[in-house]
Amino acid sequence: MTDDPRWHDWRWHIRNAVRSVADFERALGIRFTPEQRQLHERTLERFPMSVTPYYLSLIDTENHATDPVFLQSFPSSGELVVGPHDMADPLHEDSDSPAPGITHRYPDRVLFHVSNTCSMYCRHCTRKRKVGDVDSIPSRGDLERGLEYIRNTPQVRDVLLSGGDPLMLSDDMLDWLLTEVESIDHVEVVRIGTRMPVVLPFRITNDLVDMLRAHHPLWLNTHFNHPREITPDASRALRRLADAGIPLGNQTVLLAGVNDCPRIIRALNLKLVRNRVRPYYLYQCDLSEGLAHFRTPVGKGIEIMESLRGHCSGFSVPTYVVDAPGGGGKIPVMPNYVVAWGAGKVVLRNYEGVITTYHEPDDYTPNRCDLRCGDCALQLHAGDVPGHAVGVEKLLSDWDDTRSLTPSDNERMERRRDAS
Ligand SMILES: *Cc1c(COP(=O)(O)O)cnc(C)c1O
Repeated sequence: MTDDPRWHDWRWHIRNAVRSVADFERALGIRFTPEQRQLHERTLERFPMSVTPYYLSLIDTENHATDPVFLQSFPSSGELVVGPHDMADPLHEDSDSPAPGITHRYPDRVLFHVSNTCSMYCRHCTRKRKVGDVDSIPSRGDLERGLEYIRNTPQVRDVLLSGGDPLMLSDDMLDWLLTEVESIDHVEVVRIGTRMPVVLPFRITNDLVDMLRAHHPLWLNTHFNHPREITPDASRALRRLADAGIPLGNQTVLLAGVNDCPRIIRALNLKLVRNRVRPYYLYQCDLSEGLAHFRTPVGKGIEIMESLRGHCSGFSVPTYVVDAPGGGGKIPVMPNYVVAWGAGKVVLRNYEGVITTYHEPDDYTPNRCDLRCGDCALQLHAGDVPGHAVGVEKLLSDWDDTRSLTPSDNERMERRRDAS
């Protein structure tokens, strides 16, 4: 089949995506027992399957049960196990949605869900609740409402096109959307989050890339989880994107049984940078329903980070993050490098275990900031710096006199209120 010219046609892969257990068995020459088949089919009723023939072709059929591509694309009965801490929408993306398709969580950037579908349904999808739900490409009218929100929200300077997979849209539709987004004055940068280079690299056509390069500054993040996924076809897709001047990043999810190994993650990151892709985030697996069997302890992630920093080039080290349940956003987690801190001295350790002392300056005069840049010796002559602090930043700033942050349900404060 891979010699057939249709093999390189991305639309053919979408039309021929494998969606049933029987087709899967036929395509790979695997036979499940009737009980296994029944269990898989039951899982598919809850969480549907879709695998591109390309991604399917990466499975090692001799060892399919532990194959990283198989584990990411084929249902596991583990998906039906819902633990006490699991949630349908752990990141509260739906509650932080001020307009259809928009999640506005951080001050200056939004997530814009521009497609409800993907060419391959990742079994570890954090938006599993939505997969196959409305298997459709939104109309221009649907997207207009998201665009309207961005137009009316001047704080938004970074728009992250996500989904589903934004590259499920046609080139023309994407061209229109990117043109609309970039016509908004306050939007400075656009990013695309897509798994196409991994699961369907033939989507990265010359036509697509020629269209994208007309929309700079455009960044693109993809989602490789295992070095085996970086095939010659994937490398070619990445090369086209990088040659078009699109900075490439990668977001990996830490998955038990797939990549929870320092050597696999290191090999993946080294292979990514050889392909001009900067490892961006390593994610702790979310608390979405159906993902229990993929989760590792956070300690596994920290152990992996320990094996990266110092051991390989700094640009091949991603930031390990836990996306806070409840919508708090991404929280970076890493090994502790500060061993002790005294007056004027910081004691640090490096990746080799060497413990060292950094002497802080005795005569440092902090720049007190009152937000009047014109009176300051530092040469920032910009009027567009945010004039309000958020969160912990407030406690450190000179120009906001907040001294402490108190949770709204603090009992001690409630007693005070009751007493007054
Ligand atoms: C991850 C995410 C972003 C982007 O975060 P960065 O750290 O800037 O990459 C924006 N909005 C939402 C809701 C996100 O989950």
